[in-house]
Amino acid sequence: MSVAPFASAEIIAVGSELLALGRVDTNSGVITARLAALGIDVVARSAVGDQVAHLEMAVRTAVRRADLVVLTGGLGPTDDDLTRQAVAAALGRRMYEDPEPLARIAARFANRGLPMPEINRRQAMVIDGAVLIDNPHGTAPGQWIDLETGAVAMLPGPPREMSPMLDALVSGVLGARAGAARTFTRGLKVAGRSESHVETVLQPLYPAWRSGTPSIDATILAALGRIEVHLFARSASARAAEQVLEAAIAAAAAALGPCVYTTANETLEQVAGGLLRVNGWRVAVAESCTGGLLGASLTEVPGSSAWVEGGVIVYSNGLKTALADVPAALIVAHGAVSDAVARAMAAGARGRCATEVGIGITGVAGPDGGTDDKPVGTVFVAVHTPHMAACRHARFVGDRTVVRQQSVSAALDMIRLALLGHDPAEPAR
Ligand code: ATP
Repeated sequence: MSVAPFASAEIIAVGSELLALGRVDTNSGVITARLAALGIDVVARSAVGDQVAHLEMAVRTAVRRADLVVLTGGLGPTDDDLTRQAVAAALGRRMYEDPEPLARIAARFANRGLPMPEINRRQAMVIDGAVLIDNPHGTAPGQWIDLETGAVAMLPGPPREMSPMLDALVSGVLGARAGAARTFTRGLKVAGRSESHVETVLQPLYPAWRSGTPSIDATILAALGRIEVHLFARSASARAAEQVLEAAIAAAAAALGPCVYTTANETLEQVAGGLLRVNGWRVAVAESCTGGLLGASLTEVPGSSAWVEGGVIVYSNGLKTALADVPAALIVAHGAVSDAVARAMAAGARGRCATEVGIGITGVAGPDGGTDDKPVGTVFVAVHTPHMAACRHARFVGDRTVVRQQSVSAALDMIRLALLGHDPAEPAR
C-alpha cells in the first residue's frame, strides 16, 4: 500500500435531488475547505444522479485523476442509494454483509423500540478491503478504501451525519496522509470600483507574485459593488507563505489606494460602523429605492446601536416631504430621482434624527420607471456630515436586486470615505 501524501482530491456528490429538485450541494464546499486546510487541492467536483452506471463511470474517472476521491450521499437504505454498489463495481471489488455494522444498525432501531426494517440490511454491505467510518448521527456507516495509488472515502449525504465523519477523517487518516505543504490565503476587499479596474491595477504586480518563493496566485471575485481579491501561496513553511502574502497584500493595497476597505476580511458594514464608532458619530438614513435595505445592512453588525440612530423609508413623494423634509417644490423642479432630492433626504434624515451623519438614497431600481434621462439603475446616494455634503450619481447595471444592493454598498462606502476624509462622491469605475 502506498503511503504517499494526498495532493489532489475529487468530490462526487450523489443524489438526483441535487440535479432535479434544486437541493444545494453544500457538503462539497465544506469538504473542499477542510481538504484545502490540509493542503489537499480539490481538482474536480461533480454531482451525479441516482443511476448506478453514471455513478460507476464518475468513480472510475475520479480515481484516475485524483489521489483521493470523496463521495457524499447515496448510503441510505432505499433503492436509489447506490453509492456502495457503484464504488464496488468501479473498483472491481465484491461486497459482503458485515455483522458488526448490522448489529449497530439493529441496536439503533431497538433503542427506539422499533424492529429494523429489512431494507436497512443494505447499509451493512461493506466493500472488500474497506474500513468502516462510524456514523454517530445516523444508520449508514461511511467507508474508507485504500487503493494502490490513493483512496476512496464514502460519506453520507445529510450534513449533520457527514460533518462529524469528515472531522474524524481529518484528525485521523487524512491528517496523517496530508503532505507538508499547505495553502495559505490572504485577501483584501474593494468598494466602488469595477472588477476590470481592480484587475488592471493589479496586473503589473502578477509577474513578481508568480516568480516569488512561494509563488502567489490571485483570484478576483465581484459581488454587488464589492470586489474581493484573494491571494494563495502554497508552502510547507507557514512563515514563508505569510511573509510573501503580507508583502503582496501591502503592494496591492498601495496600488489600489483608498478604494480598499479592508485587508482583514471585514465586511463593508463593519468597516463603516467601526469608523462611525471611533468618531463617536451616529447615522440616520432616508431611503427610497432601497426600502430599508441600508438600515438592515447597517444594523447587521452586532453593537450597531452605538452608531445607528434609525431612519425612514420614504418611498412616496409625500413622505419624502413629510418625514425627510424634502421641499415639495424641489421634487417638482428636479424629479424625485435627482441629486438635489438625495441631498435633501440626507440633510432631512440628519436634521430630523439629530445625528452627525445623514444618508439619502433615491433611484430607479427597475424593471420599469426608467426614462432616457434617468434609465433603470440611475441612483443618487447622498451623504451629509458636519463637515461636508456630497452626492454620488451612479448608473448601476443589473436587475432590481442588483441595483438595490449596489446602492447599499455605495452608501456604506460613502460613509467610510467621508469619515476618512476622502471625497465620497467620486464616481465608481
Ligand atoms: P440517508 O441515510 O439519509 O438516506 P444518504 O447518504 O443516502 O443518507 P442521501 O439520501 O443522498 O444521503 O441524502 C439525504 C439528504 O441529505 C438529502 O435529502 C439532502 O437533504 C441531504 N444531502 C444529500 N447530499 C447533500 C449534499 N451534497 N449537500 C448537502 N446536503 C445533502
